[in-house]
Amino acid sequence: MYYPIVIAGGGLAGLYAARLLAQAGADFCLLEARERLGGRILSAAADGFDLGPAWFWPDMQPMMAGLVEELGLSSFAQYADGDVLIERPQQPLQRFAGFGQMASSFRIAGGTGALVQALANTLPQDRIRLGMAVTAAVLEGDGVTLWLRDGETVRAGRVLFALPPRLMERTIAFSPEPQTRALWRATATWMAPHAKFLAVYETPFWREAGLSGTAQSMVGPMVEIHDASAMAGKAALFGFIGVPADLREKVGEADLKAHCQAQFVRLFGPMAARPFATYLKDWAADALTATADDRQGGEHPAPIARPWFDAAWAAHALMAGSETAPEHPGYLEGALLAAASGVAALGL
Ligand SMILES: Cc1cc2nc3c(=O)[nH]c(=O)nc-3n(C[C@H](O)[C@H](O)[C@H](O)COP(=O)(O)OP(=O)(O)OC[C@H]3O[C@@H](n4cnc5c(N)ncnc54)[C@H](O)[C@@H]3O)c2cc1C
Repeated sequence: MYYPIVIAGGGLAGLYAARLLAQAGADFCLLEARERLGGRILSAAADGFDLGPAWFWPDMQPMMAGLVEELGLSSFAQYADGDVLIERPQQPLQRFAGFGQMASSFRIAGGTGALVQALANTLPQDRIRLGMAVTAAVLEGDGVTLWLRDGETVRAGRVLFALPPRLMERTIAFSPEPQTRALWRATATWMAPHAKFLAVYETPFWREAGLSGTAQSMVGPMVEIHDASAMAGKAALFGFIGVPADLREKVGEADLKAHCQAQFVRLFGPMAARPFATYLKDWAADALTATADDRQGGEHPAPIARPWFDAAWAAHALMAGSETAPEHPGYLEGALLAAASGVAALGL
């Protein structure tokens, strides 16, 4: 099978690149390793509770704001009315008047997954192939041969790699070896070391008690907690787990969930003990996001001006994942910017 352009990776960057290519009338195919689209975007249940990214900042991220509007999606401000809780070791729980500090953070109705679904709906379905993990890329003749996990090959004139460079470095064999591999490995994958716990409730009972749902904890296991209620639908709280990935693995999912649940009860009272559903997503344990280098750290990627491919590869391969964006690398906005830069560089 030959395509003039192949996109490897069906996260936000790959999907947005596909949208731009489809709008330009280009012939392309998108190969996604998972059986679902979205990559780090993952929204659970009908209400779309976000286990990956939840926020965008319209004031600072015009492309995200524009795309949300273009696709006819609704957005709403992160709930932050009410008091904030601070939990410190050996001290009584502290309660402070909130500052409405999340006022500029917006969420998408139905979760960020609604953005993935809306984007996917606009694409030619026969050009989106799931369960297609690229394992090797070989520069041959006037193009690239991509080897897939099942031994199938796809020929491409040019390839847009829309996945984290560090993941590429670990999981895709290149021939000839690009000299830029060390740069890929040094580029941290934003949020890959992290894990989120989310509990769904029938009602946002904390709001009735004058609490915003925002809390900070130096006790753990969650360090930063927020209201995650749907715009119209079920209520929810989520927290970023501060326990490092190795310890999370040792403790195990069931115990970790129980500790997170107990923390919600400590903070928000006995009603927090009766969630409708709970979710734990450990991104460091997700082999299609994180590598062994992502088990700790979590440093924010800085924009990198150097070329992502050396001369041998440059005519046939481009990077388009968020971490390679000229601005906002690692963020949703970065995914859109990187995809747009990658498509622009194709010079269609
Ligand atoms: C917990 C968490 C919270 C976050 N919060 C925010 C937030 O609030 N706001 C914000 O702006 N950003 C946030 N982010 C970051 C945001 O999720 C990313 O910037 C964005 O989703 C990256 O999109 P991407 O397409 O570049 O990469 P990815 O989403 O990682 O997509 C890469 C895709 O490539 C696929 N793939 C991997 N290997 C292969 C292969 N060999 N062959 C084919 N396909 C492959 C993967 O399955 C995946 O679908 C958060 C991330 C996490 C994990």
